[in-house]
Amino acid sequence: MANYIFVAGGVMSSVGKGAATASIAKILESRGFKVTAVKIDPYINVDAGTMNPVEHGEVFVTDDGTECDQDIGNYERFLNQNIGNDNYMTTGKVYLSVIQKERNLEFEGRCVEVVPDIPNEVISRIKKVAKNTKSDFVLIEIGGTVGEYQNLLFLESARMMKLQNPRKTLFVLVTYLPTIKIIGEMKTKPTQTSARLLNEAGIQADFILGRASVPLDGPRKKKISIFCNLDPKDVISAADVDSIYEIPLNFEREGLGDRILKKFRIRSRKNDFSDWQNLVNTIKKEKSPIKIGIVGKYFESGEFSLTDSYISVIEAVKHACWACDREPVIEWLSAQKFETEKQNLEKLKEYDGIIVPGGFGIRGIEGKISVIKYCRENNIPYFGLCLGMQLATIEFARNVCGISLATSREFDEKTIEPVIDIMKEQKGLLKKKDYGATMRLGAWDCSIKPNTISSRAYQQEDISERHRHRYEFNNNYRELLEKKGLIIAGVNKEKDLVEIVEIKNHPFFVGVQFHPELKSRPLAPHPLFIEFIRASIKNKKRPA
Ligand code: GLN
Repeated sequence: MANYIFVAGGVMSSVGKGAATASIAKILESRGFKVTAVKIDPYINVDAGTMNPVEHGEVFVTDDGTECDQDIGNYERFLNQNIGNDNYMTTGKVYLSVIQKERNLEFEGRCVEVVPDIPNEVISRIKKVAKNTKSDFVLIEIGGTVGEYQNLLFLESARMMKLQNPRKTLFVLVTYLPTIKIIGEMKTKPTQTSARLLNEAGIQADFILGRASVPLDGPRKKKISIFCNLDPKDVISAADVDSIYEIPLNFEREGLGDRILKKFRIRSRKNDFSDWQNLVNTIKKEKSPIKIGIVGKYFESGEFSLTDSYISVIEAVKHACWACDREPVIEWLSAQKFETEKQNLEKLKEYDGIIVPGGFGIRGIEGKISVIKYCRENNIPYFGLCLGMQLATIEFARNVCGISLATSREFDEKTIEPVIDIMKEQKGLLKKKDYGATMRLGAWDCSIKPNTISSRAYQQEDISERHRHRYEFNNNYRELLEKKGLIIAGVNKEKDLVEIVEIKNHPFFVGVQFHPELKSRPLAPHPLFIEFIRASIKNKKRPA
């Protein structure tokens, strides 16, 4: 029977529960166990596909096409394993299935109630994950913060699971300890309050992970131990780190792996962290920098700059840089600025490579197209991801093939030059307003053309990559664009869809209809990102 570890957060959001959950999973994996992780989002949204990235961060997509929270990306990256639909739950998803069961008379006429029917559904879903993945440990991260109304039923599910299997269930509370500058002391009170709020839900934390700017000292650990009712050894210091990949090693230094196994009365099967240690050594050592500009629009929020919307892109760039022994320097470039202030384009020369990532809607489009044109004409390595591929195609059609009105049906429904168009099935879905989980999603096969940048990168002909988009390269323009020099470097043969475009005589100009960033892992960087970084390294030597 599997062991279950629930991870909840206290004090405030964004304290790094996802990275903590992934790190605990990693520790247990390094001890020789089969581990998986589940994310619970308390939203009514059935999945993350309908959420704006500025509000919720990146929409991560799994091989099976689940549009989920970015934490699933963290789990995949830490565990170097593919995670599926069952590992992602939202309030909406749980209620929807309970209501569907009720409609199907599966409750045999009895009154269906929030408690216990909702927690029972949650528990059966968690157990299904354990069974299907044959895991020794299932980590379950409960989104939100303790004390809020939204995640109460999930905490209730966790409490009920503990009651059913007391020796097989543990609770971890991740909190934040602020240090007020003028007082200069790290305060434990918000952590104490959070632990009590968890007690109110009938749960005693077995571990408290104290997030803070600096490590927790002895007196702080002791205080938390007394007031939160746990052994000081189970108060784990989780100070800020430069790279999240350091966290599992820091937790191990605090003895977390041994303490967890002790509580479950299980012995380690092995203890091998060498690959991970090597990775962290590479991350921390001094390396010469490589400067990558990402042109987007989902990072501006008032006066603040958020990078969560592009987290997988950032991680993929980092993984590839580390593999090439370079220090990633990533900068954000606002797409709209390239529309109003054309002189900004000159600044692109300061970058070793440019990425235009995925996106939706017309805002910032013309700025991105100007950037792509500049990269094409000035031999700056360019990597277009999904929307970035569609815009590279539009730019090529406009400026190389002379189709001045070329655009995507997404930006102009009545366009006469839909170089990027909507497919028939998609048109029907949009008419019905059937938006949820209906894009081209998840893993699709792609055949790579020999003697291309992509074939050099992948070193294989048949690949599979993850998608999330509605619009496609319009095959009516294929012949003309190819004649003018666009290389169709990858296609999905089954549906005859263009998946990769490249151009000749350029250090690196590649646009992919899929999202390679979603499959990059620190221990298995993505080949296209590596090829892009290699080209960027070469470009750095370019005379000014
Ligand atoms: N908006 C484009 C489409 O729906 C691209 C989507 C994306 O970049 N993920 O096809």
